[in-house]
Amino acid sequence: MTWTLLLLLPLGLIALAYMRVPLLLITAALAAWLVAAALHFDWSVAASVTVAVLVGIPALLLNLVPLRRALISRPLLAVYRNILPPMSDTERIALEAGTVWWEGELFRGHPDWQKLHAYPEPQLSAEEQSFLDNEVDELCRLSDDWRISHELKDLPPETWQYIKDKGFLGLIIPKKYGGKEFSAWAHSQIVTKLSTRCSASAVTVMVPNSLGPAELLLHYGTDAQKDHYLPRLAKGLEIPCFALTSPQAGSDAASIPDYGIVCRGMHEGREVLGMRVTWDKRYITLGPVATLLGLAFRLYDPDHLLGDTEDIGITCALIPTDHPGVQIGRRHFPLNAVFQNGPNWGRDVFMPLEWIIGGPAMAGQGWRMLMECLAAGRSISLPASNTGMAKLTARAVGGYARVRSQFKTAIGRFEGIQEPLARIGGHLYMMDAARRMTASAIDLGEKPSVVSAIVKYHITERARIVVNDGMDILGGKGICLGPSNFLGRAYQQIPIGITVEGANILTRSLIIFGQGAIRCHPYVLREMRAALADDTPEALTEFDDALFAHIGYTASNAVRTLITGLTGSHWVGVPGDLAPETRRYYQQLTRFSTAFAFIADAAMLTMGGDLKRKEKLSARLGDILSLMYLCSATLKRYEAEGRQAADAPLMHWAIWDALFHAQTAFEGVISNFPNRLIGMLLRRLIFPLGRPYVVPSDRLGSEVAKLLIEPSATRDRLTADMYVPQDEHDAVGAIEHALKATVAAEAIEAKVRAAQKRGDLKARGPGMMRAAFEAGVIDAQEFALVTRRDELRDRVVKVDDFAQDFGADAVPATPAEARNVTALAA
Ligand SMILES: Cc1cc2nc3c(=O)[nH]c(=O)nc-3n(C[C@H](O)[C@H](O)[C@H](O)COP(=O)(O)OP(=O)(O)OC[C@H]3O[C@@H](n4cnc5c(N)ncnc54)[C@H](O)[C@@H]3O)c2cc1C
Repeated sequence: MTWTLLLLLPLGLIALAYMRVPLLLITAALAAWLVAAALHFDWSVAASVTVAVLVGIPALLLNLVPLRRALISRPLLAVYRNILPPMSDTERIALEAGTVWWEGELFRGHPDWQKLHAYPEPQLSAEEQSFLDNEVDELCRLSDDWRISHELKDLPPETWQYIKDKGFLGLIIPKKYGGKEFSAWAHSQIVTKLSTRCSASAVTVMVPNSLGPAELLLHYGTDAQKDHYLPRLAKGLEIPCFALTSPQAGSDAASIPDYGIVCRGMHEGREVLGMRVTWDKRYITLGPVATLLGLAFRLYDPDHLLGDTEDIGITCALIPTDHPGVQIGRRHFPLNAVFQNGPNWGRDVFMPLEWIIGGPAMAGQGWRMLMECLAAGRSISLPASNTGMAKLTARAVGGYARVRSQFKTAIGRFEGIQEPLARIGGHLYMMDAARRMTASAIDLGEKPSVVSAIVKYHITERARIVVNDGMDILGGKGICLGPSNFLGRAYQQIPIGITVEGANILTRSLIIFGQGAIRCHPYVLREMRAALADDTPEALTEFDDALFAHIGYTASNAVRTLITGLTGSHWVGVPGDLAPETRRYYQQLTRFSTAFAFIADAAMLTMGGDLKRKEKLSARLGDILSLMYLCSATLKRYEAEGRQAADAPLMHWAIWDALFHAQTAFEGVISNFPNRLIGMLLRRLIFPLGRPYVVPSDRLGSEVAKLLIEPSATRDRLTADMYVPQDEHDAVGAIEHALKATVAAEAIEAKVRAAQKRGDLKARGPGMMRAAFEAGVIDAQEFALVTRRDELRDRVVKVDDFAQDFGADAVPATPAEARNVTALAA
């Protein structure tokens, strides 16, 4: 009895904290235990009174809310107000923009997996599917990447016209304005498919449908602006661009030096209230051909023509590019990508206030507008375009690795090549899952700002790994540019996705956790708001509620972290209807989520505002949150696709790899925690029995690699909705044909080798197949098949060569067909 009672205290407290029981109940349980202990151990009156006072006073202080507010929360609020780092308006707007979605569940330590699987899977309407199958395919066909990027240096006029005529520039514009009114998922699918073919076409379509004039008009435009511009944008009568970046303000876009001064001036023959705007922008996509310039600048009203405020703030306006004073510059040349991109500027260009998006009432609201709209565009465009490039890599490089032989073996069968192939397959499976889940959030009406940063960063970084691996596998074939090189341009252009829409280093170091910590945390934003508010009783109440809930939450997360660590998370409940082979992943993710919630609090509590400058720690914390999001998307995909057993290696590889990296990120935070004592405690709590994850096994990697090097339903699902040209003279089309022929020819080759072994066939090297045919080892049909395989293989491995000056009429000088050695080989 004595031991039971003694053990009951710590175990009971741990159990109550684990279950996140309210403070009042914990106090009641403690009181009951004390009474039981007093009776059992027969405490004297003096001892009982001492214990009652020692425990009772803090218990009263904590549970009597008015007392607690007056004696604890009020002084703490004063301290908090002093240490809270100052926050600029632009920082506050950025932090508060958008909504919190699934990442909030992961942040809070107790993800509800049923909720994840209850999010509906995105579906294309019949109209969207038809557009994808027909118009998008046709645009792919019209997009000869090499001709566009090397010879024409632009889309050909007929392709431009096709884009305009078929409504590609109005995918997000409602039907009532003549647009397509497609879902975010359809938009994502369209950009993905185009990106498997040609970056110029993909970017040209992507940008007007992403953050730009149409999106801003839809949300903030006046009726007159919408009625005038949206139908014209939908029909391609206007080519839009949006100019935010200045030479002096790139990542720190809120510091743009571009300005407008409110003043009176002449417009269309009358004097109107307007603004004189001066700007200098660069890197503006579609800028050189734009007819409608979306412009961000800071508006000032020194003469108080609009009111008392002089510095009105960042403002967005729409300016026709033929307006006097607008200077459209020449072109930048972004890593051989030929989508239109260039600088523009203007000096004291007068324009009416009506050109402000949303009219004069929206003057100064530009930053809020941009931040609120950023999530949608960033959730779709780069995740889609980079997944497209990865699909192209997986399909074409996977095929190539089977067609290309060295040392008498398909290179895809070498363990050294299997390693990058596994990365290509595993990462792509995860990237596509995250792209899909995130687009579906947009269609559910979310504006998930943290998630948009997660997918922007992690999908573009994975695309970089995938494309780099693809290049290594291709060897010289990937290096020599020309129409036969299907990956070189993607390789060149990968850094563009890394840099735009929030450069990746900044996004990882500052945004994902920096914004996530405040947006997703259940209490921090409430505490901050209370601290920033006036000193009123309401602010104190809000602070007190949030603070004490926060303390309980942190204590509970600490206990849960330790228990799930000690038990290897085997006791964590997982909904029974999920695939059994994924059960452990949900348990491990719940464990990581709890540990993350705890370590995030520990970091915020001990470093406070300094955490903002501890970018390496912030980046690693962001990695953990991101990797849990990517794993969630991957598990959701696996269920949504019907738990395809054949695809399981892709899912397993992706999850093992992500969990291993999440574990490494934990380790990075712990090892570098500025307070070493807390760092040590964190290690004991989070990894009490060591670190459970290792890299995906070699065997698993080989299984993934095998899936990429032969035709199968898995390969089709992995590269679904890629544009696969049927023309065997196309670089990618040739691989498709060659792969089928290679697989079919392998059985014939085995037959020939067996004949050689038996001594029935003496011939070796070139001419061996013909000899086998003549000796009756293989029949005419089989001989024709290997001959055809050789012909296709030669086409696949060929590279282009050019005249000395790589001139504009750079048709390869010696087409490989002219030097075809197929007949010889056969
Ligand atoms: C091809 C292309 C198309 C573009 N299209 C458009 C467009 O249509 N409209 C438009 O307005 N802009 C556009 N941009 C601009 C793009 O958004 C910027 O390039 C981007 O914001 C980065 O700015 P920057 O290039 O000046 O780099 P910098 O801001 O100089 O950054 C340099 C490096 O420093 C890192 N960095 C910066 N601050 C921090 C920090 N606090 N912590 C850690 N790292 C940090 C960045 O991550 C980056 O790696 C385009 C750019 C390119 C290249």
